[in-house]
Amino acid sequence: MNGLVSPLAAAQLAVAVPRWGVVVVAGVMGLVIGSFLNVVVYRTPRHLSIVQPASFCPHCRTPVRSFDNVPVLSWLLLRGRCRSCGAPISPRYPLVEGGTGVLFALVAAAVGSHWAVVGLCVLAATVAASAAIELDGERPPLSVASWGTGIGTLGLLGAAVPDGHWAKFVSAVGGVAVAGALGVLLGRRAGAAGGASVAHGCAALLPAGAALGWSGPVGAAVGAGVLGVLLLLAMRAARPSRAQQARRAVTVGPGVAAALSAVLGVVAAIASGASLA
Ligand SMILES: [Zn+2]
Repeated sequence: MNGLVSPLAAAQLAVAVPRWGVVVVAGVMGLVIGSFLNVVVYRTPRHLSIVQPASFCPHCRTPVRSFDNVPVLSWLLLRGRCRSCGAPISPRYPLVEGGTGVLFALVAAAVGSHWAVVGLCVLAATVAASAAIELDGERPPLSVASWGTGIGTLGLLGAAVPDGHWAKFVSAVGGVAVAGALGVLLGRRAGAAGGASVAHGCAALLPAGAALGWSGPVGAAVGAGVLGVLLLLAMRAARPSRAQQARRAVTVGPGVAAALSAVLGVVAAIASGASLA
């Protein structure tokens, strides 16, 4: 029994922090992590290191100084231009930062004062990065999905230890298993030519599975199918080349659908008053 005292104290500490406090801290952390996600989104599909070099202007290659790297605020103060060369900086950067801040705050509002908020925010960030990479026309790397899902699931395991609430962790492991099985299954269906590509494309289902349980990847896979069909119809109406059609159909799908289902899951939890923890 003695061994349980300090973890229990840790759990009580978490409970002692009011919900709004958790929401504010998570929102600020989201802005900072969003800045890191911009690096992940740009560099990982291009096989560049996410650690080095420090952020630089893609136009004039001048390193971004720390005071010009404050999430959202710097972009606004610089009016979306590089301080050195004046080249425009994509509004995608503040949008990803602000969006991650809002996402983390929503997760915190849905979870409340519980350590599970850390693991769930990591999973939310992983889903968001995968979706942003897809929207960029690239395929989310398996490394991003597996690292993010691994760290997030470990976070849920750590959060379950103090209060013995294993349900969330068990549902996360189940969701990851379903996501993996779906990826393999859809890859096999696609056949030898595109199978590996489809299986990799489904990597974004992993963090959705860990965050939402088995229904996450299933809902996201169905959503990806619907999105794909809608996109093909929209592109057919615009009469693009066939190659363009095929490319879009592969690159916009599971990641975006996983992000949509994750956001829906979080908003539904807040609306119903049920804690996600
Ligand atoms: Zn520049």
